[in-house]
Amino acid sequence: MSSSSAAGGGETFVKEITPQTEDFSRWYLDVVRKAELADYSPVKGFMVIRPYGYAIWERIQQELDTRIKATGHVNAYFPLLIPESLLLKEAEHVEGFAPQVAWVTRGGTEDLEEKLIIRPTSETIFGVMYQKWIQSWRDLPLLINQWANIVRWEKVTRPFLRTTEFLWQEGHTAHETAEEAQEETLKILALYKEVCEAVLAVPVIDGQKTESEKFAGASKTYSIEALMGDGRALQAGTSHNLGQNFAKAFEIQFQGRDKTLQYAWTTSWGVTTRLVGAVIMTHGDDSGLILPPKVAPWQVVIVPIPRGNWKETVLPKCQEIRDQLQAAGIRVKLDADDGNTPGWKFSEYEMRGVPLRLEIGPKDIEKSSVFAARRDTRAKQSLPMDGLAARVTSLLDEIQSALLDRARAFRDSHTSATTSYEEFKSIMDGRPGFVQAPWCGSAKCEADIKAETQATIRNIPFGFEKAPGVPCIKCNGDAIVTAWFAKAY
Ligand SMILES: [Zn+2]
Repeated sequence: MSSSSAAGGGETFVKEITPQTEDFSRWYLDVVRKAELADYSPVKGFMVIRPYGYAIWERIQQELDTRIKATGHVNAYFPLLIPESLLLKEAEHVEGFAPQVAWVTRGGTEDLEEKLIIRPTSETIFGVMYQKWIQSWRDLPLLINQWANIVRWEKVTRPFLRTTEFLWQEGHTAHETAEEAQEETLKILALYKEVCEAVLAVPVIDGQKTESEKFAGASKTYSIEALMGDGRALQAGTSHNLGQNFAKAFEIQFQGRDKTLQYAWTTSWGVTTRLVGAVIMTHGDDSGLILPPKVAPWQVVIVPIPRGNWKETVLPKCQEIRDQLQAAGIRVKLDADDGNTPGWKFSEYEMRGVPLRLEIGPKDIEKSSVFAARRDTRAKQSLPMDGLAARVTSLLDEIQSALLDRARAFRDSHTSATTSYEEFKSIMDGRPGFVQAPWCGSAKCEADIKAETQATIRNIPFGFEKAPGVPCIKCNGDAIVTAWFAKAY
């Protein structure tokens, strides 16, 4: 008999989580609250990221930071406040961001001579400094990233997905040629895609944003888009080719190899704490979170089964196994708190999405084995204590790739293609997901489709650039691309 059934592993203690099918949005908020990922704060629209949620963000940060540095970028830190005059320098940029800006007008007891904004993004202040630092082609490329907080005034907020303040990294680069800037823009998009898929197990579609969805002030915006468990898309990261727009607004000029004075070509790119929301909504189920091992604060939880003199027998063995796993680089928690039953702990760590649970009781010790339960499939098996760390490591790898496969299968089964607007509308009304449909490129068609169905063009994937001879789904004019539509967060 397994120690699991002996300890009553079938008990449910998470009744407070609304089932996904009943109300996905409620389910999301329940998981965020119950798993102690975030909480509301006394400031409306601002969340507190709690330690467990922050630990997930730290994992994401580390994985990104390593890759950002490996591709030649360095980190720096720029000011939180930006003078109003800088925001006004790039016309499209100010138009795009002005409605969301928070202002600082007073310092101590005095009104400020020039109002300051809390950064909604930092292209402007990077622009000013790049103008100072870049003189010659020898100063290029300049490849700087910063980890920072951002404020964008939001009317409707949701933890991690849309909050007035959020955390992110923003890369800002300057290049000698248009080609290099474009190469950088796509290199970062690929980096983001790799992190989403290999680390978060969140499959994404990469492609180009339409004119109306691109970043304010960019020449081209590219995005990665993921599909959440309710069939809505989530923009998971963006990379912008800014052309010479900001270089001209901020006079970022350099002397070229031919001695002529030229404007630099710049890019910017970012991903945010929203990725935590993507993980929750891609993998979670009615019992709560399911975390991919690579971002799980605890990859393994050890639950001792308290029988007889367990503190003298079972507990030392649990500690020994914890130490072995830790030595193998596995993040492990041993929960030896005897104030809670094993059954309570099983539910608690399931709800918190810990990928693998190990149960160890007197019978397991007799058999020199441990009882392992996977969070993703709930599959259970007995594992010999001998060689346990290697077996656990490979199980975690299996879980990591199984989660990506499952998310891919979900996305594929929620992706359809149509050339009929009637069918398009019925898909969006029923079981939403991605819909590939031909589009003529007109902003009016895009806006009409959004008004009638709530679906937006998420992006135009690479390799789907042309759809010759096919009529636009909305106006029947010549389609120029196959765009990916979805209702989005
Ligand atoms: Zn059209």
